[in-house]
Amino acid sequence: MKPVASQDHRNLRTLVSRRLPSKIFNRLREIGALADAMDAPAYLVGGLVRDLLLGHTNLDVDIAVEGDGMTFARRLADRYGAGLKIFEKFATALVVFPDGFKLDVATTRCESYAHPTALPTVKPSSIKDDLYRRDFTINALAIRLNVNRFGELVDLYGGLRDLEHKVIRVLHARSFVDDPTRVFRAIRFEQRFGFRIEKHTLTLLKEAAASDLVHRLSGPRLRNEVMRLLSEQAPIRTIRRMAEFDLLRFLHTGLAWTARLAGLLSDLGKSLAWWTKQYPRRSLDRALVYFIGLMDELSASATGAVVKRLAMPGKETRKVQLVKKHLEPALRFLVRHRSPRPSETYRALADLPDEGLVLLVAKARSKDIVRLVSAHVTTQQQVRPSLNGVDLKAMGLKPGPIYKKILDRLLEARLNGEVKTKADERELAKKLAKV
Ligand code: ATP
Repeated sequence: MKPVASQDHRNLRTLVSRRLPSKIFNRLREIGALADAMDAPAYLVGGLVRDLLLGHTNLDVDIAVEGDGMTFARRLADRYGAGLKIFEKFATALVVFPDGFKLDVATTRCESYAHPTALPTVKPSSIKDDLYRRDFTINALAIRLNVNRFGELVDLYGGLRDLEHKVIRVLHARSFVDDPTRVFRAIRFEQRFGFRIEKHTLTLLKEAAASDLVHRLSGPRLRNEVMRLLSEQAPIRTIRRMAEFDLLRFLHTGLAWTARLAGLLSDLGKSLAWWTKQYPRRSLDRALVYFIGLMDELSASATGAVVKRLAMPGKETRKVQLVKKHLEPALRFLVRHRSPRPSETYRALADLPDEGLVLLVAKARSKDIVRLVSAHVTTQQQVRPSLNGVDLKAMGLKPGPIYKKILDRLLEARLNGEVKTKADERELAKKLAKV
């Protein structure tokens, strides 16, 4: 990073105008003017300030207002005909502009923790306190938005110096105890930016990791951090780092960093790259792919316990369960039957979500199996019989469980090319009905 401070005398107006799209820059200026009209100091805060200084793209705009941020958010929404959602309890608001652009507004606050891992009690306070409650110095920078002071960097805790020296540093010694999610956040920023966790911070982090604090985090909070680590560019590194700090035990005591896991995660990276190149328009939960990969050595019931601990939502839980149940049998089948009939491949793979197919390709490490998965996704998944239940009824066949048998068989026949037309299917259906 270039030493921004010495170049710009700590005024970042030029940097903000150069690095942000003009639409956002102009909105920030308007926010500054509105804050002036309300006589309220307003700031750009959080990850966007850090990323502006690092030269990384980030369009998550967080505004902090000293005094009454909620009234400010209401006025802002009124002025631009924007949608507004206020979370009174947290003194935060989401403003959604008519063009779809969103930003968060919060009243600057101080936080106190009734006990470690509790959600903090929040009281309105100064920007100084608001920055002090943050996780790391590099995330505790702000940029003033009021018109005459637009672009002024507020750096009360050495965040700029730490950005320049590529250092992750907590603001105070209780930081990880107050909020152990910061242990995971430290790994996230360390690995994402290639920064170093400062010595004292590292000691505090290790102490927190060695304690039972993480056990006290709620499922959703722990899940959020773990999945965010798995969403990073190189989850193999964030997972290894979690293992180094012995954090995997908070998911399950049976999890460990092994050469096998390292190999699988590396193959997963390649398999994911292949999949996204091949099927760029299919939505894939990349973090979930790594999650299921991480669970690879665990039994279905142990994985179930992890899913429960993390309070995974139903959709993800279902996917994990399906993969646990169907991946190994599918893999065994494909390894054994080098050239299965299309209907056999279909049956082996039909119950696997895309995330499971990606993992299967990683585990198979075989070009033949990649080809089979490819044919399954591009062709077989699109195949349907032309006839349906209504057609069978119109043909005079008596409804009952036989319908499912017939339709399944018709699909098989279609997949294998044994029937080509609707007439072929009718004929086959009649034959099957007689048996
Ligand atoms: P990312 O780029 O991964 O989204 P971010 O820094 O924007 O990182 P957020 O989780 O969106 O991360 O948080 C926004 C800001 O809120 C952070 O920069 C930090 O100042 C503050 N913050 C978030 N979580 C915590 C926490 N657990 N403890 C203290 N401060 C936090």
